[in-house]
Amino acid sequence: MRSVQADRHGGTEVLAIVDLPVPVCGPDQILVKVAASGVNFIDTYQRSGLYSMPLPVGLGREGSGLVVAVGDNVQGITEGHLVAWPGVQGSYAEYVVMSPTDCVLVPVGIEPNIACAAMLQGMTAHYLVTSVYNIQSGDTALVHAAAGGVGLLLCQMISARGGHVIGTVSTQAKADAALKAGAEHVIRYDQEDFAPRVRELTNGVGVNVVYDGVGKSTFDGSLASLKRRGLMVTFGNASGAVPPFDLLRLSSMGSLSVIRPTLGDFIATPEEMQWRADEIFAAIADGSLNCEIGGTYSLDQVAQAHDDLESRATSGKLLLIP
Ligand code: NDP
Repeated sequence: MRSVQADRHGGTEVLAIVDLPVPVCGPDQILVKVAASGVNFIDTYQRSGLYSMPLPVGLGREGSGLVVAVGDNVQGITEGHLVAWPGVQGSYAEYVVMSPTDCVLVPVGIEPNIACAAMLQGMTAHYLVTSVYNIQSGDTALVHAAAGGVGLLLCQMISARGGHVIGTVSTQAKADAALKAGAEHVIRYDQEDFAPRVRELTNGVGVNVVYDGVGKSTFDGSLASLKRRGLMVTFGNASGAVPPFDLLRLSSMGSLSVIRPTLGDFIATPEEMQWRADEIFAAIADGSLNCEIGGTYSLDQVAQAHDDLESRATSGKLLLIP
């Protein structure tokens, strides 16, 4: 089977299509024929070495597909079921094996591409608005990269909970996408300093929470956008990792809090992952959540997908179709 591997860290030139045997399904595992693999920023960190990995590494963590073999001890999943998963390493491949607790069953009526798109970025947006900062009606949130994969989902989930979204984006097309997804205001942070504009939009008060997946380039402005006792959620490094900083700044800026969460800790049990998946799938089914597919690529085009994501050219979810 074809699979994407990197035998060293680096740019997209390290991405190679390799031919591997179809993995064998153990007694406690299932074998899945991949329908769609999600492309996520974390895949670029694992490729570049920002997140160091044992090498060679099979890339990709997210996907959906049909179960084609089931181990003897597995219950509740049978051949032919459509499943989706947010965190199985090596998902840029034609087949993957996993434990049944790594995936969720996809309800009838939800297509494989949408199910895949709902996993890693969907569960991330879900834990950010429910468990990291529980958005209440009337709250105001600043969402950076509001037209990105996680960003578009955050805009929708926050506004569905009665929250107000101020989004930042780098193009007019992305501004339009964020507004369509529920942002009330968008700021072109490529053109203006966003923190003073956030103050202006909030009558000098600031926002309750900042969801910042951009990292290094936005961190200071994000702190400056918060209201007294606000929460800074730094959850990604699209522009680079946030350097160490002086905690005393938090007291002088209004007793602020900072959290650096990661998805694995918010889907640590199958029950919690299932809860998040159920809520996301229900919202997709009733039409209140749209997973925007921003681009599809073949496995051979994986370098192009990474280039597009890293060069800020994309909006919504990117998928590899093996
Ligand atoms: P996106 O689709 O949001 O793509 C990243 C976006 O970041 C770009 O489109 C761009 O939007 C913006 N950006 C700003 N500066 C840069 C830069 N210098 N280089 C590249 N992009 C930049 O990606 P994802 O939805 O996959 O991920 C968003 C963030 O969330 C990432 O940082 C990712 O690591 C993080 N994440 C964290 C998780 C966690 O649990 N902690 C889980 C999942 C994702 P614009 O052009 O509008 O500026």
